[in-house]
Amino acid sequence: MSSQNPVFIPGPTNIPEDIRKACDIATIDHRSAQFQDILNPARSGVAQVIKSEAAEVFLFSASGTGGWETAISNTLSPGDHVLIARNGMFSHRWIDMCERFGLTVSIIETDWGKGLPADKYEEHLKADSGHQIKAVLATHNETATGVVSDIGAIRAALDSARHPALLFVDGVSSIGSMDFRFDDWGVDIAVTGSQKGFMLPVGLAIVAFSPKAIAACESAQHHRTYFDIRDMQRSYAAGGYPYTPAVGLMNGLRLACDKLLDEGLDNVFARHAHIADGVRAAVSAWGLDLCAERPEWYSNTVSAITVPAHFDATSIVTHAADRYGVAFGVGLGDVAGKVFRIGHLGQLSDVLALSGIATAEMCMVDLGLNIALGSGVAAAQEVYRVGSVFEAKNAA
Ligand SMILES: *Cc1c(COP(=O)(O)O)cnc(C)c1O
Repeated sequence: MSSQNPVFIPGPTNIPEDIRKACDIATIDHRSAQFQDILNPARSGVAQVIKSEAAEVFLFSASGTGGWETAISNTLSPGDHVLIARNGMFSHRWIDMCERFGLTVSIIETDWGKGLPADKYEEHLKADSGHQIKAVLATHNETATGVVSDIGAIRAALDSARHPALLFVDGVSSIGSMDFRFDDWGVDIAVTGSQKGFMLPVGLAIVAFSPKAIAACESAQHHRTYFDIRDMQRSYAAGGYPYTPAVGLMNGLRLACDKLLDEGLDNVFARHAHIADGVRAAVSAWGLDLCAERPEWYSNTVSAITVPAHFDATSIVTHAADRYGVAFGVGLGDVAGKVFRIGHLGQLSDVLALSGIATAEMCMVDLGLNIALGSGVAAAQEVYRVGSVFEAKNAA
């Protein structure tokens, strides 16, 4: 892989130079007041990015998967019933974790390429008049298929069934790049990791709990030690941390939040929508389809592109790495070999996206697909020429 090229994998994402430098700090004493000046703004910055006044944000040295475990282990007990839809590899892995925790998992099987079916969630919740379901799990953006789902609709399903279950949302590949409304959507636990929308190296699990989720910790019977948020809460209250914190990453997170908020969340989301529109125009000019079946499910952070049958999509990714030093995402699970993914979350601009589109195009032509060089690039250029987000922001 060439270090001069941006990556087009859906995480880890490209790291802005100033954020990389902010992670590289001399050792400080994490028991000193200096640590507070890093931890506190990082936590409050995350709360602002997820649009919450109610949430308490916890930072663990882990990846997003550790955030899933934080949610499950702190609020539930073995045998508890949870409800979740499976529509891709990431929801599949979260289900696997629930099963390994000994939870009773009701799975709503959903085509890979479709969004979360709020109506089916509602049916299950309405049928559960005894309120056995303790938590409803939802993957906001299924990174494997490039499908975004309507979390507000899942909240509405809970409300319409007058169901008290907690709502856990995996926002790993949405938070910081697409709109996420913790308070408005009545989210109880949101999970992300440092290496996606926050544009940092991997290493922090970022987890937000509502007061209701925090209250659920007392009766939860799952064993937990490292991910026990009560230790975190006690330490934060005393101005500390329960073990040695990843101070450099937290300093980077503080800056990442500042950068997102300075750009303006609406501008950040518009930038990603604009970049994604160009990628989608290219896909359509190539005569290919997205794995996401309908526009309402098109993700603005990752596009999974279906290749013609009998063609191995993974060969595009391998060829791009070998020949051009550029990274794209392979298909995972059920769509392995059937799709390749262009990640466009985190630090990226329309102009950089053009290089990824051009490279994907060269690879497909090299590998014999019937695609005209320049066709996708031209389609994206037409999108990027009008309504430049950069220009709009600087005019404002
Ligand atoms: C990347 C990702 C994860 C897993 O996070 P890790 O940081 O790799 O542990 C979970 N969910 C989604 C939707 C993701 O994109």
